[in-house]
Amino acid sequence: MIVGIDLGTTNSAVAVWRDGEAQLIPNALGDFLTPSAISIGEDDQVIVGLPARDRRETHPGRTATAFKRLMGTQQRTKLGRHLFDAEQLSALILGSLKADAETFLGEPVTEAVITVPAYFNDRQRKATRRAGELAGFNVRRLLNEPTAAALAYGLQDRGEKEPFLVFDLGGGTFDVSIVEIFDGIIEVRASAGDNRLGGEDFNEIVVDLARKELPADLLELNSPNIIELQRAAAERTRRALSENDSADFVITIGDRQEKVQITAAAFEAAAEPLVARLRDPVLRSLRDSGVMAETLSEIVLVGGATRMPIVRRAVTRMFGRFPDATINADHAIALGAAVQAGLLSRDEALDEVRLTDVCPFTLGVNNAVRDARGGMQTGIFSPIIERNTPIPASRVNYYHTISDNQQAIVFDIYQGEAREVKHNIKLGTMRIPVPPKPAGHVTVECRFSYDTSGLLEVDVTVPDTGLTYNLVIFDEDAKIANQQMEQRRAVLAQLKVHPRDDATNQAVLARAARCYESFIADRRELVGTWILEFEAALAAQDPRTIEHARKQITTALDHLEGERFL
Ligand code: AMP
Repeated sequence: MIVGIDLGTTNSAVAVWRDGEAQLIPNALGDFLTPSAISIGEDDQVIVGLPARDRRETHPGRTATAFKRLMGTQQRTKLGRHLFDAEQLSALILGSLKADAETFLGEPVTEAVITVPAYFNDRQRKATRRAGELAGFNVRRLLNEPTAAALAYGLQDRGEKEPFLVFDLGGGTFDVSIVEIFDGIIEVRASAGDNRLGGEDFNEIVVDLARKELPADLLELNSPNIIELQRAAAERTRRALSENDSADFVITIGDRQEKVQITAAAFEAAAEPLVARLRDPVLRSLRDSGVMAETLSEIVLVGGATRMPIVRRAVTRMFGRFPDATINADHAIALGAAVQAGLLSRDEALDEVRLTDVCPFTLGVNNAVRDARGGMQTGIFSPIIERNTPIPASRVNYYHTISDNQQAIVFDIYQGEAREVKHNIKLGTMRIPVPPKPAGHVTVECRFSYDTSGLLEVDVTVPDTGLTYNLVIFDEDAKIANQQMEQRRAVLAQLKVHPRDDATNQAVLARAARCYESFIADRRELVGTWILEFEAALAAQDPRTIEHARKQITTALDHLEGERFL
């Protein structure tokens, strides 16, 4: 049996082709989505999925999320006393999905189709393939995510030259692709996007609206994870607003709980500027592919954030017709991978053409910018080559001195997508001496050149002195990664994965611990009592007692912090 896997940045999912249709496979908690999160327990056990994500706040030094962004790099993440690269972390997610599939199907599962973003380059694709192999899969094929979405919607059953537009708005990124079949080969004709636009940005809108109404002293309370609490409250409110005309923003900080009612109308008015940004990538993808909007056979919505009515209306307005959203937006890619798996097992697989090579990450330098109050904010990322730029590419930016008689400009070179450089990956540093002059009077030219082998060349020219400085940054060879396969497999083999039959209880305990840390006083005490009661039920080892206790604590926690979501 071949399974289809969506290995996502936020969530992953696995599906199979069975009885003539693609079917999703539930994990040990009964969910179809498994958060792409890994945590290492104090007992050195690997925790995967929802309980791992709940430990992100309580055990930040032992928990990793969003590691898909590091695929194809040598960057390692330290979890407890272990160091992992993105391939190994992905392998642990894949291994967990494999176990879910084996439990569901009742037989060993060794073959998989795994999806990757259309803009993944060769290195990132090879890394994904190796992650699959590390998890014990024979990776039959890597499939572009938009192609998978189009397959889930039946592209393969349409005639030739019926292009699909795949509109994918996820938690943090927005991708638009035009997918087409020609001569039995599927091609992603064009891909455009905005890697800084997703559900999280809409959460910020909700937080801003709520903060206007929240008592000022509440916001001054010194809660260590206030940002995360607001974000989680906003996420719940926004999801509720997808179904209702108004919803409560509920936040519990320490021993206080506050509620602010937010109407869909207010949210949508405030979200207009974000919605306006959806238009440009759509136009670019149409322009780049030479496809006319009227000839699109289907407009397909994927990514959880397309559930927002305001997004759906915007798409309908853009195209003058309704998009197709009959398949659950979070499931479409895994289901499409299962369609490809089904075709492969019948030896009828569709072939795919790859996009030309593109630069997978944004490359740039650190910069200082003037903030609203006239002060200088440092450590801000200034992109030079944007993600998705076809390579080889060469781009230039100009930078000025910021203080009088400044002796040098230091360029730290980064790869990544975050606004603050500290969240990106540092690749190197250059110190460029400049002649002392009043602030802003010296300008230097910084040129980045990036090629298909992953080689980045930085040239900085100081026109005042006529001097040029050069730095070449090599990508550590993927060969090393290949050579290390056995060693890395051995590292993973040593780790014990938490027993599957204990997954639900473990998830509840991780959540309760997170709540305990975020509350204080009476609420904290209450959660502490519930944890003790639940632990006592676990110690009794009677399944019925455990189930009863689990329901009780879950209901109580839902009541305290609102219902949970994936
Ligand atoms: P994905 O990256 O495709 O898993 O999408 C995750 C994003 O979808 C997150 O930002 C979620 O807030 C968003 N999302 C999921 N369900 C809903 C919903 N019912 N209403 C609004 N946004 C949602």
